[in-house]
Amino acid sequence: MHPISRRQLIKTTLVGGIGLTTLSCMTTNQVPHRTWTRYIAAYDTESPACLAACRKIVEVHKRMEMPATFFVLGSVLDANPAEFRKILDDPLFEIASHTWSHRMLRNNVFCGEAPSMEDRRIEIAKSKETIERVFERPCLGLRPGCGFDNALRGEPEVLKMIHEAGYRYVSSLLWGPDYSLPALLEDPFDYSADGFPGLWELPGHGWHENLLKNNNQWGPKRLVLWPPPFPEAIPD
Ligand SMILES: [Zn+2]
Repeated sequence: MHPISRRQLIKTTLVGGIGLTTLSCMTTNQVPHRTWTRYIAAYDTESPACLAACRKIVEVHKRMEMPATFFVLGSVLDANPAEFRKILDDPLFEIASHTWSHRMLRNNVFCGEAPSMEDRRIEIAKSKETIERVFERPCLGLRPGCGFDNALRGEPEVLKMIHEAGYRYVSSLLWGPDYSLPALLEDPFDYSADGFPGLWELPGHGWHENLLKNNNQWGPKRLVLWPPPFPEAIPD
């Protein structure tokens, strides 16, 4: 297996991608018309404590030559730019946005309501500007705080702001139907239906452990669907 840098992967597949992100992709040096799924490790980096975690995560990724995306909160990065750059500035890693301060880009049943459109614009644009200033490279991806069960479908105003800011992809589909968990394994799609064919959605998966173990201290939540979306998991 040839190591591949995160940036090269993005270039090759149009966009990059996320927990975990799936990419059904076709690369130029492979059999034409054949597609398969790639999973990309991704880390939401959203508090000063994440700095210590990043040091350990980065060490493992470098050792394994495994690409990753770090979705960084702009305000957290802005508070400690030199240290974050020292740790994350490596071709193996993509640095993408986790918004400026984790305010919602659309309503989320668990995380609350979205602020005004102007505030959402700040969340979208200011984080990107900060990342590009600190890392001196383009910031192509955006993972909204908390994510949503329908991605950003049906939010043309928000999608327009994301597009105008210059992002190439969003990773916002982080929940199963009706805000259940785990998030289903969905293929990437673009936002043609909402008028933005050049903007991709790379769904994220595998972060439900945070809630199963109550790591984020949300307490008990109704998270599981019944009937389940995985009928094969039910014994005959
Ligand atoms: Zn977050």
